[in-house]
Amino acid sequence: MHERTYQMAMTDSLTQVGSRYRYEIEGRWMIEKAAEAHSLFTVIMIDIDCFKVINDTCGHKKGDEVLQSLARYLSHSLPTSSLLARLGGDEFVILCSRKKESEIPTLLEKMKAGWSAVPHPGVQHEITLSCGVFSRIPEQGTTLEAMVNKADMALYDSKRNGRNRVTFFSP
Ligand code: GH3
Ligand code: MG
Repeated sequence: MHERTYQMAMTDSLTQVGSRYRYEIEGRWMIEKAAEAHSLFTVIMIDIDCFKVINDTCGHKKGDEVLQSLARYLSHSLPTSSLLARLGGDEFVILCSRKKESEIPTLLEKMKAGWSAVPHPGVQHEITLSCGVFSRIPEQGTTLEAMVNKADMALYDSKRNGRNRVTFFSP
């Protein structure tokens, strides 16, 4: 019973990817490990563009299907040693360790291109994604919140600059 409750808490019930709770627990652990190993840790925030339009024009059920489809797609294109979680609404996060900084842009380009080829029966327009990325070698004491905040700022810039793009945080 305890095991089942734990699994439910760790899983997002709509999409079956990690829950916000799992992201908090495992994210902290991953960041500590990266700090100990002096290895790069990357936060990728992903948010569907104008998702509300899908709900409004195609219905909430279709909106749910799009969320499930994105979660499925992302979980198949995830690099190893990474965690995918749904933070809420149409926002997903990928926490990624042991990836070189130079590999991240290519990874995201491939991810976005692959997603644009995924069909969405019943949705008339293209469904694009905005991303925000922050990578660094964490120091002891660097918090998950601080890193996610920077990725979130980059995501905000992607939205502000017209959506359907990837922005890397720059101070
Ligand atoms: P933006 O490009 O700025 O991200 O616009 P947006 O419309 O995607 O963003 P906004 O945050 O305004 O809308 C997200 C919507 O997601 C609002 C909410 O009704 C809807 N939503 C949140 N959770 C769910 C869910 O579980 N299922 C469905 N179908 N919709 C959801
Ligand atoms: Mg959105």
